[in-house]
Amino acid sequence: MKVSWDESVCIHAGKCVQGAPEVFKVEDGKFVIDTSASSEEKIADVVAECPSGALKIE
Ligand code: SF4
Repeated sequence: MKVSWDESVCIHAGKCVQGAPEVFKVEDGKFVIDTSASSEEKIADVVAECPSGALKIE
C-alpha cells in the first residue's frame, strides 16, 4: 500500500497525525508516511478522515 500526500491541498488539520501517529509523522521538519507501521484497514480509515483530500491511497 502506498499513500500519497499533496502538500498544496493539505490544510494541516492534523487528522492524520492524530489518527495514526505511527504512520503519519513529521521527521526533521518533513512530513513522512510510513505505511508499514499499521494495518491497511487502519490507514484507510485515517485517509478517509482527511478533510482536504490531500491523502490518497494509490
Ligand atoms: S488529515 Fe489531511 S488535511 Fe489534515 S494534516 Fe493530514 S493530510 Fe493534511
